[in-house]
Amino acid sequence: MKPQNPYIKKTTFAMQGSLATIHRQPWFIPVAILLCIIVLLQMIPASHDENLSSMAHSVVNIPMDELRALINKEVNQVMLESSKADIIRGISGASGTSKYPPVKKLPEGQSLRILVTGGSGFVGSHLVDRLMGAGHHVIVLDNMFTGRQRNIIQWLGHPNFQLIIHDVIEPIMLEVDQIYHLACPASPPHYQYNPIKTIKTSTEGTLNMLGLAKRVQARMLLTSTSEVYGDPEVHPQKETYWGNVNPIGPRACYDEGKRVAETMMYAYETQANVEVRVARIFNTFGPRMHPNDGRVVSNFIIQALQGKDITIYGNGQQTRSFQFVDDLVEGLIRLMNGEYSQPVNIGNPDEYTVKDFADLIKGITNSNSSIKMLPATKDDPRQRKPDITTAKEKIGWQPRVPVREGLIKTIEYFRKELEESGEIVPTGPSASKPQQHKQKGNYRERKQKRGRM
Ligand code: NAD
Ligand code: UDP
Ligand code: UDP
Repeated sequence: MKPQNPYIKKTTFAMQGSLATIHRQPWFIPVAILLCIIVLLQMIPASHDENLSSMAHSVVNIPMDELRALINKEVNQVMLESSKADIIRGISGASGTSKYPPVKKLPEGQSLRILVTGGSGFVGSHLVDRLMGAGHHVIVLDNMFTGRQRNIIQWLGHPNFQLIIHDVIEPIMLEVDQIYHLACPASPPHYQYNPIKTIKTSTEGTLNMLGLAKRVQARMLLTSTSEVYGDPEVHPQKETYWGNVNPIGPRACYDEGKRVAETMMYAYETQANVEVRVARIFNTFGPRMHPNDGRVVSNFIIQALQGKDITIYGNGQQTRSFQFVDDLVEGLIRLMNGEYSQPVNIGNPDEYTVKDFADLIKGITNSNSSIKMLPATKDDPRQRKPDITTAKEKIGWQPRVPVREGLIKTIEYFRKELEESGEIVPTGPSASKPQQHKQKGNYRERKQKRGRM
């Protein structure tokens, strides 16, 4: 065999990242044929080279030198087009060095293949950023119900990254070392939109991921929730508390779905030796929350920034404890890679009444919005605060980001979302589908603004 031609290696590499954007170009098929011929020429022994190159001559009917020059030109064009596409996507490196965020180079054998279900959602996309940055190979599996491609666009085309549009309730065969199983809508209006689907996602979806973990001997982490404690009668909540859940109320599709998902995790641990980790996540906020997810943080910030009424459900005396998303991601990674396999609360014990939280956001945004009291929603938990002793002792984790600091970053994110959209109508308390918020101006105006017309 001849040594690998570095020119071809470079070409193949450059094309990997940009294939998705170039395959529709008119020159793509001829260039692809020419490249295949060149690759073949490189792969065969020298004695066959002449025969094949004359075959190539007769196919394309031009001398080899010219053929190489032509391919060179076309490949340069491919690279130019691909970097143009990246500029349009807004992810080109400042000095043209790398169009992707920095990624650590891990020694052979240390880079894991990690599956993140729900990886294009709010939490999942931050987790993906951390895992990619650490040098791992990441597969995102998502049906895009509440996920957004813009959350992971910074990695599209990266050789360590793969996006699979797939619903977890369908079986799938993959080869991975770790599974972070996040797939499930998390905001009440979204998980109540199609409760049967929410139950299937938590039950059938988790079963499939456990079957996969069992087959390939992967370690699997489930993102469970503080909702397994329901409307808690114990405060703050320790992992040993069994909860107070209404099994037939509007929140049951989510709460009971996660409870049975936890049950399945430990059944697979006991019966099939699957290594499991269970994170019970408390209310989390940060950039990339879906603007229409109807959760308290997104709603209050969007309402405050637009000077609209801040809507409180009930008397506002119910409490929640809020953590910034970076802290959560750190906790998930520590839990996955630690030795402790029982459920762990991951949350910030900084507890607020909903009314105080509304005032806090009004203050930070300097908003003159009024507070509007609406009827309470059914089965709304009256209090919630994590006891994080287990997290501290077993995985050496505690939150680092103060709520105010996290809110400032989140407000900045929503300000940008609003600039782009013009207006966002927050989702109310009743079950609803995630909406793509309205874009500013009509289609022609937006294109002109981006200089594409
Ligand atoms: P999210 O709605 O932003 O993300 C969920 C992701 O899962 C989305 O990308 C969605 O498209 C995907 N998904 C939903 N159903 C799917 C299916 N059937 N197949 C494949 N993909 C599917 O929510 P999030 O806030 O990022 O929550 C992530 C996980 O963390 C969820 O499991 C949630 O229950 C858990 N959690 C979150 C919070 C929080 O405050 N954010 C609190 C407790 C638990
Ligand atoms: N499964 C999957 N991918 C795999 C292995 C299993 O999606 O790589 C699914 C499988 O289709 C089944 C579920 O996981 O629905 C549970 O698998 P398991 O082997 O535990 O149970 P069984 O198939 O024996 O019922
Ligand atoms: N909430 C509110 N106004 C809103 C959205 C939510 O008063 O516009 C309240 C909600 O009733 C609950 C708390 O804020 O008491 C947290 O709601 P969220 O939907 O964020 O999450 P939950 O913890 O209930 O799952």
